Amino acid sequence: MAGVVIVAFSSNDRTDPLADILPVTARLFDNSDTAVSLFDGWDRLLYGNDPYYGLICHAPGTHPTWPDIVRDNYAKGEGLIAETDDIESWIRTALAKRRMQNYRQFEVDAWDGRWLLMTETLVPGGGLLNIGVDITQAKNITTALKQEYQNALVTAETDLLTGMGNRRALERLRKILVSQGRHFQVTALMIDIDQFKPYNDMLGHLQGDLCLQQVAGIIRSSLRIDEAYPIRLGGDEFLVLMLDASLSLAQQVAQRIRNSLSATAIPHPATDSGLVTLSMGLASRDIGTSESLSSLLKDADDALYKAKRDGRNRILSGP
Ligand code: GH3
Ligand code: MG
Repeated sequence: MAGVVIVAFSSNDRTDPLADILPVTARLFDNSDTAVSLFDGWDRLLYGNDPYYGLICHAPGTHPTWPDIVRDNYAKGEGLIAETDDIESWIRTALAKRRMQNYRQFEVDAWDGRWLLMTETLVPGGGLLNIGVDITQAKNITTALKQEYQNALVTAETDLLTGMGNRRALERLRKILVSQGRHFQVTALMIDIDQFKPYNDMLGHLQGDLCLQQVAGIIRSSLRIDEAYPIRLGGDEFLVLMLDASLSLAQQVAQRIRNSLSATAIPHPATDSGLVTLSMGLASRDIGTSESLSSLLKDADDALYKAKRDGRNRILSGP
């Protein structure tokens, strides 16, 4: 451990009042793993222990000012990270915060990948005592957990077979719509495969799964509008929620899905046409609360079941 380097700065008009307390107090941190530094009232580094000099990549015993440390670290891409395009304005903003409170704590990261929790205490005489504890391990664990949480959220909201959103995704969408506190014109398109039970019974469940994947792919590739959210509600039933989309725009989307499916021509052993077909129900309304989204979905569902009753393989709008 290098000896403690203590310098009391004095100039014509200023004598640092911290100089008196340094010889005793500074030694307290000689053996500490935490990065300890003391700046005088003019932000010149009076004291740093070895971990602090290591953190700022400066030779022990040097006494740069805090802005110069930041400038030097920024220019060389070493020491402490200042995430900015304009280092001078970053320094001005940071300096304005530096003595606003008697005590504050914040996180800093270093170019070597370390994270530190810094405490900054205003000491009598205008100096600043900084103590930085390495929290890299905890930070990495937190970051990994956040990432895992995000992944789990995506998995929980994704239908395994088709990759579309599932009912949980719909619930989140519902919450987002309500939290925005504004009115959208929302159009719901409900889609159900015709005679899918006999398809499964005659061709097998595996072939049924492939058919569901093909239909999901066709739905997805037919959505060319910005805010359209395709969801597999379950079984052979799909929903597309379109935000800020008029009924006539949604009718075009439904027609595109129909055309694309008929061009794909998936054979079906039990329908009149011999091909897989879809029934679709559309409804549109101004949405502001979760209740009206439920009513919208019910209207689209009613339209879908009317399409089924009317003979299937058609698009109907309701109510
Ligand atoms: P309709 O024209 O009235 O819709 O008749 P349908 O036979 O399609 O009746 P319905 O929509 O009620 O049938 C849904 C069928 O979808 C029932 C079940 O066999 C099948 N199914 C549900 N989930 C899956 C799945 O994950 N994979 C497969 N292969 N089949 C499924
Ligand atoms: Mg069906």
